[in-house]
Amino acid sequence: ILKAENIIKDFEKERVIKGVSLDIYENTFTAILGPSGSGKSTLLNILSGLIRPTQGSVKYGEEMMTTWSERRLADWKRTEAGNIFQEYLLLENLTVEENIKIGISSKKGALSFERLVRILEIDDILDKFPAQLSGGQKQRTAIARAVIKGPGLLFCDEATGALDEENSKKVVGLLHDLKSVFGIAVLFTTHNQQIAKTADRILTMKNGMIYQDVRNDAPITADAMIWG
Ligand code: ATP
Ligand code: MG
Repeated sequence: ILKAENIIKDFEKERVIKGVSLDIYENTFTAILGPSGSGKSTLLNILSGLIRPTQGSVKYGEEMMTTWSERRLADWKRTEAGNIFQEYLLLENLTVEENIKIGISSKKGALSFERLVRILEIDDILDKFPAQLSGGQKQRTAIARAVIKGPGLLFCDEATGALDEENSKKVVGLLHDLKSVFGIAVLFTTHNQQIAKTADRILTMKNGMIYQDVRNDAPITADAMIWG
C-alpha cells in the first residue's frame, strides 16, 4: 500500500534518516522498533505525510505522494491515514462521542460508529468527558477518532507509551483486531520488545537506518505478552 525508496531526512546539518527503502503491506501490523533517537518517529512522519523527506520518494499504490500538492496531501491525510500518538489529543470540552465524530470525513467507506465503539469497548462511556476517563479509555477514544473514516493506514507513534501494562495490552490487542476486521495496515513505533513481538513484521532501526526487517510468522497475542 506504501512504498518508500531511498528516504533521506536532514534536520539542519544532521542526517537523521540515512537511506531507507521499504514496502508496507495491507492488512499487516508492522512494528518499528529501536532506541530513542534512532529515527522511528521521523520515518513514520514521512510515511504518514506529516513531514516531507529531504530526498527519496514515497508511493501510495501507484501514486507518487512526494510530488503531491499540499492540498492533495491534506486530502489524503483526511481520508486515508489515521494517526495516534502517545498523548491522546482529545478535546476536553467534548464528550467521547463528539471527539470520535470529529474524525468522520465525507468519503465513502467510513466505518459504522456503533460497530467501532463496540469493538473498542467504549460504547458505555460515550457521554463522558476526557477528564473522566482512564488513559486506556482515552487512547481507545483517540483510536476510534482516527479510524472512523475508514483509512487504509493507521500510524501509531508510541501509542502505548503513556499506558500501564494492562492498558497497553488491551490497546495493542484492539489494534490487531482493527487490522483483522477492517484490513487496516498498522504501523506502530515502540521501544518495547514485547509489543514488537505481537507484530506480523518487525523493522528494527538504528542510527537512521533499518538494519533488520523480519516477518514474524508466529506473533504472540497481546494477552500472552510477558513483560520484562
Ligand atoms: P524516541 O524513541 O525517543 O521517540 P525516535 O527513534 O522516534 O526516538 P526521532 O524522533 O525520529 O527518534 O529523532 C531522530 C533524530 O532526529 C534525533 O537525533 C532527533 O534529535 C532528531 N530530530 C527529530 N526531529 C527533529 C526536528 N524537528 N529538528 C531537528 N532535529 C530533529
Ligand atoms: Mg519517537
